[in-house]
Amino acid sequence: MPAPDFVLSGARIAGQDAPVDISVAAGRIAAIAPSLPGDLRVAAQGGWVFPGYVDAHIHLDKAHILERCDMTQGGLAHAVTETARAKASFTADDVYARASLVVDAAVSHGTTALRSFVEVDPRVGLRGLESLLALRDERAHQITIQICAFAQEGITNEPETLTLLIHAMQRGADLVGGCPYRDPDPLAHIDHIFDLAQRFDCDADFHIDFDLDPQNADLPALIAATQARGWGGRVVAGHATKLSAMAPVDVAAMARRLRDAGIGVVALPATDLFLMGRDADRLQPRGVAPLATLARAGVRCGVASNNIMNPFTPYGDANLARMANLFANVAHLSTDDDLTASFAMVAGDAAALIGLRHSLAPGDPATMVLLDAPSPAMAVRAIAPARAGWVNGRPTFERPAPRLHGAPA
Ligand SMILES: [Zn+2]
Repeated sequence: MPAPDFVLSGARIAGQDAPVDISVAAGRIAAIAPSLPGDLRVAAQGGWVFPGYVDAHIHLDKAHILERCDMTQGGLAHAVTETARAKASFTADDVYARASLVVDAAVSHGTTALRSFVEVDPRVGLRGLESLLALRDERAHQITIQICAFAQEGITNEPETLTLLIHAMQRGADLVGGCPYRDPDPLAHIDHIFDLAQRFDCDADFHIDFDLDPQNADLPALIAATQARGWGGRVVAGHATKLSAMAPVDVAAMARRLRDAGIGVVALPATDLFLMGRDADRLQPRGVAPLATLARAGVRCGVASNNIMNPFTPYGDANLARMANLFANVAHLSTDDDLTASFAMVAGDAAALIGLRHSLAPGDPATMVLLDAPSPAMAVRAIAPARAGWVNGRPTFERPAPRLHGAPA
C-alpha cells in the first residue's frame, strides 16, 4: 500500500465505539483502523469526524441585502414584497459577491454540500443563475453546490417565468423549484414544475404550505402529483409549517402519505420562527414543521438555513450546528437519540434528501469535517465549532481553538 498523504488520528466516527485513525491517499480514504502508520498526522483529539454538513435549502442569490430593504415591518408578505423590489436591481457581480460571502461562511462551519435556490423571473432574468453557475464551478474544490431554478413569484401569473426556467435548465441548473403558495393557481403551478422535472429528468423542490392555517393544504396535491408522475424520492417540501397547526391525528395521516409518496420535508426554523405567528398578540406559536413526528413515521427530514440576512431571515451565519440546535430547542428535544436525529437532519439525512452520498468508509472520497465535540448529540447541544475540513483529501478550512491568556505575572 502506498504511503498515505496524511493520517487523521484519534477520530470518533459513526459505527465505531473507540477513536480510530483515518488514512488518506490520492484523495480517498485508504483505511480506517484503531492505529495506522503515517508520517504526516493530524490529531483529531477525539473529535467527531463525518462527511460534513449539508444545507439542503438555502438562497444564495438573495442573501445579505438587509441594507436595501425596509426592515421596520415583518411577516411573509412584506418579506416577499421587499425582496422582489430589491431583486429587480440585482446584477450578476452583485449576486456573485453576496453569494460568495455565504459560501465562505458555510465552508468555514463545516458544510460540504448545499442546495441553493436561484430565482428566475421577469425581474431578475437569468442574472442570478449565471452568477451561481460560475460559483458552483469555482468552489467545487471546497463544496458541492446544487442549483435549483426557482419560481418564487408564481408561474401562471407570470408565464415568462416558465420560459426562463427552461432556459435555466438548459444553461445547467441541477433541478427545478416551485412556490405554489405564491401562485393564483397552486395546482397548475405544481403541474408546471413537474412537467419541467420530467422534461429535464431532475428533482423538484417546493416551498409549500407556508402558513399556520390547518386547512387548505397544498401537500395533498403535491403527494398526488408525485405519485402520478412516479417521482418518489425526488421531491422535497420546504417549510410545510401548516403541519405544526394540524391536529396530531391529521399530522400522522399526512406523515404516512408523505412517506408512501417518497416526499422529504425540510424545516427552515430561523425563517419559520421569524415570519410565522405574527397575528398573535401573546403566546406566539412556534410554527415549525413537526419533523420529529414525521421522521418517526418514516419521512426523510432535513433542517436548513434558508435565508441569511434578508427580509425573510435577518440573521444567520450559515452554521448548521446552530440551525440543528435551534430546531432541537424549538421542538423540545432532549435525549441523545433525538439530538443525534436532529444532527442527521443537517448531515446524512439532508444529503439523502438532495440525492448525495454521505459516507465515510475505505474507498470513499476523503471529504471530512472535524468537530470540537465527541458525538453528534454534543455537537448539537453545544453548537460545537467545526475545527477543520477536507474535500477529496485537500484541506478546505481551519478554525483553531481559542487560547485564553493567563493571569498577569
Ligand atoms: Zn426557501
